[in-house]
Amino acid sequence: MLLAAFPPVICQSNIDMTVDFCVIGGGIAGLTIARALARGGARVALVERGEAGTGAGFVAAGMLAPLVEARLEERDVVGFGYEALRYYRTFIDELEGETGRGVGYRDEGTLIVATDRDQAGLLRHHFEEQQQLGLPVQWMNGYECRVQEPCLAPGIPGGIFSPEDRQLDNRALLAALRTFCLRHPCVSLVEHAADVRIEAPGEVRVGESVIGAERIVLATGAHADLLGPWAPRLARTIRPVKGQILRLDGSAMPLLSHVVRTPEVYLVPKANGALVVGASSEDRGFDESITAGALYELLRAAWECLPGIYELPVLETRAGFRPATPDHAPLLGEVGAHRLVLAMGYYRHGILFSPYAASLLAAWMLGGERSRWLDTFSPERFHETHAERSLT
Ligand SMILES: Cc1cc2nc3c(=O)[nH]c(=O)nc-3n(C[C@H](O)[C@H](O)[C@H](O)COP(=O)(O)OP(=O)(O)OC[C@H]3O[C@@H](n4cnc5c(N)ncnc54)[C@H](O)[C@@H]3O)c2cc1C
Repeated sequence: MLLAAFPPVICQSNIDMTVDFCVIGGGIAGLTIARALARGGARVALVERGEAGTGAGFVAAGMLAPLVEARLEERDVVGFGYEALRYYRTFIDELEGETGRGVGYRDEGTLIVATDRDQAGLLRHHFEEQQQLGLPVQWMNGYECRVQEPCLAPGIPGGIFSPEDRQLDNRALLAALRTFCLRHPCVSLVEHAADVRIEAPGEVRVGESVIGAERIVLATGAHADLLGPWAPRLARTIRPVKGQILRLDGSAMPLLSHVVRTPEVYLVPKANGALVVGASSEDRGFDESITAGALYELLRAAWECLPGIYELPVLETRAGFRPATPDHAPLLGEVGAHRLVLAMGYYRHGILFSPYAASLLAAWMLGGERSRWLDTFSPERFHETHAERSLT
């Protein structure tokens, strides 16, 4: 069904309203939750301090890769990611039907290759871990890797093929979700909202205006300042992990069809010809600078496995902030008794996790149906003291 109504984006002044849910943060997490709640018939205000769809999700590479990144020590994250991947097809079929916009979903799979013998040893170990987890991956020798991707460097000794990992155009996805929110009669999208505060349980102040809600959903990515007054210890567990990333123009000379990774870099070919090369992982707070060192390391590692990139024009360089928690797992669910729900901490898998997490949170908030994942990823695992809980 194509959505027909077009309520306007509400400007900053005079936006007093009462809704069922106020979602703060218009990134991939907030947009998917606003959509899931509105589809369930709830009235939703989505409050974003910039333009919706321009957070870390815009910077990201768009990989849906729970399998190839799987680690034994992150079993829950792998299990959740695998379910999230299976949910994706339904989600994008519905979203494309609702908005008429494509999201560039691709299913060629991921190849993770070694560029030397040391890396081959590392990948062998990684492959054994994936087998212990029972994941559908297979080992390929260098020849088999180059049959899959003929432009790979001739010396590649081997790698892991993960046929079930997927990817999409994350920017097209964000644009489709924003379109959904703009058009849906149950969503009020408030953009460029300066000075957003949670004044009291169920009360969000935007400048001089007040939005009253049954529940507030906090989806502000790596920015935990609004959580600070309500759960200071929990707020301190969320930290930004900076990622620098490049887009090269591969439209004149497509070099890859699969997502290709090495232990140092990933290369993600997009339907529009862009080749995304990422990404650094840095603990530097909210430092947005693009550094020569990070770009050099990414391009060197990319060139070692795919020498043809040497000639490609650089389209763009960017930095974004992954919202990380101490156990690299998301924070999903209620905090204390403040009618405050978190959808945060998606770390390096926010594009993958968001639609599924949104569906689980909406099913619980609208109908009381509680998935076991909401217990596994409850924010309460990072205990608040009694004094912190009873701040209100
Ligand atoms: C370089 C890089 C590559 C990545 N690649 C992938 C990938 O391939 N696959 C994948 O699954 N994930 C990937 N990720 C991770 C993914 O981008 C994040 O996990 C995801 O974007 C988190 O979504 P979010 O909505 O929680 O945060 P964000 O996308 O950052 O959105 C948060 C939003 O909240 C808004 N906001 C913040 N504070 C306030 C406030 N006080 N008031 C109002 N609004 C506020 C922000 O403006 C922003 O729009 C990557 C991340 C990076 C940095």
